[in-house]
Amino acid sequence: MNRRAALLDDAALARLLSAARQARAHAHAPYSGFAVGASLLDEQGQCHAGCNVENAAYPQGLCAEAGAISAMVLAGGRRIQALLVLAQSPAWVSPCGGCRQKIREFARDDTPIVLARPDGTSQCLTLADLLPHSFGPDHLKLGDRP
Ligand SMILES: [Zn+2]
Repeated sequence: MNRRAALLDDAALARLLSAARQARAHAHAPYSGFAVGASLLDEQGQCHAGCNVENAAYPQGLCAEAGAISAMVLAGGRRIQALLVLAQSPAWVSPCGGCRQKIREFARDDTPIVLARPDGTSQCLTLADLLPHSFGPDHLKLGDRP
């Protein structure tokens, strides 16, 4: 399952891990206590990060990945070259279903998605591993219209 070496070099992984650690330290998770950090590299090589932001009205909370994507778009980035999600759990923590679709908007099937723990261990998947046969922007391109 770990294809990181083929998908992402050590320097990029270290950069993503550092950014996600810093972001995770700012998580607002008073209800679950489950702090998450996410980071991504855009097409310019810029790094953007986000943390989860819970809300007393639970469904209004935001995922760390959504925050990182918002930061990328705000800075002018439009392609996710690699994304990392960092959390502490006995099981690897992967993006939720909603975030997988949010990532899909800006990423390709072979975009590396790294699942990492605070101790630095990680697993690397691709977006297609997490969201096979996905729906994306290409489906809305103008073609034969009724
Ligand atoms: Zn999510």
